[in-house]
Amino acid sequence: MATLTAAKRLVIKIGSALLVDRESGALRDEWLKALAADVAWLKGQGKDVVLVSSGSIALGRRVLNLPQSDLALEQSQAAAAVGQIRLARAYQEALNPYDITTGQVLVTLEDSENRRRYLNTRATLNQLIGLGVVPIVNENDTVATDEIRYGDNDRLAAQIAVTVGADQLILLSDVDGFYSANPQQDSSALRFDIIEHITPQIEAMAGEGVSGLSKGGMVTKLMAAKMAIAGGCTMAITEGSVMRPLTALEKGANATWFLAQSDPHQARKRWIHSMKPRGEITVDAGAVTALHAGNSLLPAGVSTIKGAFGRGDPVAILGPDGHKLGQGLSRYTAAEALQIKGHRLEQIEDLLGYSGRGALIHRDDMAL
Ligand code: GLU
Repeated sequence: MATLTAAKRLVIKIGSALLVDRESGALRDEWLKALAADVAWLKGQGKDVVLVSSGSIALGRRVLNLPQSDLALEQSQAAAAVGQIRLARAYQEALNPYDITTGQVLVTLEDSENRRRYLNTRATLNQLIGLGVVPIVNENDTVATDEIRYGDNDRLAAQIAVTVGADQLILLSDVDGFYSANPQQDSSALRFDIIEHITPQIEAMAGEGVSGLSKGGMVTKLMAAKMAIAGGCTMAITEGSVMRPLTALEKGANATWFLAQSDPHQARKRWIHSMKPRGEITVDAGAVTALHAGNSLLPAGVSTIKGAFGRGDPVAILGPDGHKLGQGLSRYTAAEALQIKGHRLEQIEDLLGYSGRGALIHRDDMAL
């Protein structure tokens, strides 16, 4: 059985319907304060926490006196601009009493589809988490056009969970789990406690969404679950509207858990292995030992570079005898790698004219 206690790094998705009162369009302050207490409780156990929060459009809409539904794209974008600043501030104020620093991170679909931007997002989020910050993530609705939008924070949250290597994703929702049919329409609908495999039968059960404010119905939640579990992250759907929903979950509140089959680390290694390399890096005997000991690949240990790869591209790593050791994502372009190979990190700035990014392949981006 999955539990919150087991998690080391958690991504929590908060839907608009929880944060913004449907009637008045006002922020639900008391609920947010209680959520902040839950976040502090989790952080106090040494867990990393990332929040993915919706609500910018719902909040901004009220301020701008825009209609409750059917906004044109540019109207939602304007609403998001006005609402996001309030949303971020609300989190900052709610978490401040616990001495928790928040940081706002706005992403678009392109940030996960383009490998270079993906690596950048990952590095920034990891840096923030490492500094003890709770990142508050949302889609950059103000610049994202229809074609390049997620449109729902369920999938965005799953993408963020995989990006930061979270081992759990909790979707705080207006339903307490995944049902065999829509429970509001079908009284015989049954809730699943655990789903180990998302079969076509399970997919057929995900009808339409039930909430007016939030975008994501069960369909997007299942898509999120698929992304998460493929990335080694267990996902739960639980009712978020109660006060302190995470404490409630820990105490056994209704939920559906989608179990990941592997851990985030293994899933990432598999992903790195699955890519077609765009170049080859041959390393010396010293580097082979260092890599097997779990270290990053430094330019000093590199003897030859082949191929025309860009930053973030997969490259094969070969031993001195030409035997393939594994592969990894290069932090430099092939041209840069050629210039810095055989040199120490301190020399990179002189060689390239800028400070560079340390190791040629970071150990987290390498699968041997
Ligand atoms: N990004 C949107 C917002 O903050 C919400 C999308 C969703 O409801 O899932 O308003």
